[in-house]
Amino acid sequence: LPGRYAGSEKSVWVEYIQLAMDYKPLNLGQGFPDYQSAPSHVTEALANVAKSPNCLLHQYTRGFGHPRLVSAIAKLYSHLIGREINPHSEVLTTLGAYEALYSTILGHVDVGDEVIIIEPFFDCYEPMVKCAGGIPRFIPLRLRQNFTGELPSSGDWILDQNELEGLFNDKTKMIIVNTPHNPLGKVFKMAELEFIANLCKKWNVLCIADEVYEWIVYKPNKHIRIATLPGMWERTITIGSAGKSFSVTGWKLGWAYGPAHLMLNLQMIHQNCVYTGEAVAMSFEKEIERLDKDECYFKSISCELLAKRDFTAKFLCEVGMKPTIPEGGYFMVADWSPLESKVDLASESDKYKDYRFTKWMTKNIGLQGIPPTAFYSEKHKNLAENFVRYCYFKKDENLQKAAEILHNWK
Ligand code: PMP
Ligand code: GLN
Repeated sequence: LPGRYAGSEKSVWVEYIQLAMDYKPLNLGQGFPDYQSAPSHVTEALANVAKSPNCLLHQYTRGFGHPRLVSAIAKLYSHLIGREINPHSEVLTTLGAYEALYSTILGHVDVGDEVIIIEPFFDCYEPMVKCAGGIPRFIPLRLRQNFTGELPSSGDWILDQNELEGLFNDKTKMIIVNTPHNPLGKVFKMAELEFIANLCKKWNVLCIADEVYEWIVYKPNKHIRIATLPGMWERTITIGSAGKSFSVTGWKLGWAYGPAHLMLNLQMIHQNCVYTGEAVAMSFEKEIERLDKDECYFKSISCELLAKRDFTAKFLCEVGMKPTIPEGGYFMVADWSPLESKVDLASESDKYKDYRFTKWMTKNIGLQGIPPTAFYSEKHKNLAENFVRYCYFKKDENLQKAAEILHNWK
């Protein structure tokens, strides 16, 4: 194996999807809804495309994105970020947000370039940076030192400004900022984004804004697009996902938008497209028409998930776990260590305790979560061993079952 892949051999998704298939637990692991949350116009759009007499919809389209789709994306984000986005030179559609991340990182990072990654992080960032020959530099979000309340919010997980400033140097090529954040659900505040933006400008650094959960934000929190901060458009590539925007994770359609001079590098890496483009374009067109109305899916999805968030936090607390209440997204990280005496950690052989906990729970209690050390660099994995990540984008009935499983166990 080429040296640059060292440490990338294992994937938590490959391992935990298999684990779920083998043991059939109630699955609050991988992030996807277990019911049809997407508005029916979205799935109907796909059915209509499949049935359309226009057989060319099933064939190759424009290499950098189906024309109708890049137009819809440009129209939406021009409105949201208050600047005219050129659908042809400033938008690229991709195979999921994964490929948008891949094209951005591979297209911009040179051998020896440093990339700042905030921990915990969506786990593919590290291998992608290494694949490009770059050097990841990590900085953990830490629970605020003066935190005294009952339950922390994801907003209580913060970056140390001096530590962040200390990572920037003339080898720094980019920083990856994921807001709303997976797995903590943190929605970065204006002051936090401004601090990052000022460092980017000072050191001439690019920003990848992974904003796939942009529509899932609980009031009064507000999603701020870092590309809208002064001087940031020209150095930011923002990434989105139809899988997340419309709750159809299997469609694997994503996009990146940013200034044309930065998008050129992504286009160079990317060269394919998929036919669901037409259906996603139609879905966007419908939602753009009702963007300011409560029934717009981009508004209603957060209301739908808020009740699930609160229910999940409640049952986790009742059994003695300590969740962090997310400000956005559909994941909840909880400290399970108060229950450690009830778990036979020795029966599993993994190095990190959270892996042993989640595997033991899957096999013996029938409830699956994701071990968050997968979202940390080797050096900082110890920070996450007492935690588990649960996805609560599940039918109420299944969340109820999860609660019962935990109560019966306890
Ligand atoms: N970024 C984050 C933060 C994610 O959680 C995910 C999960 N799917 C992705 C990117 C990848 O999205 P997609 O499924 O569209 O490839
Ligand atoms: N983004 C999803 C999660 O964090 C799924 C990622 C994956 O399956 N690779 O759970």
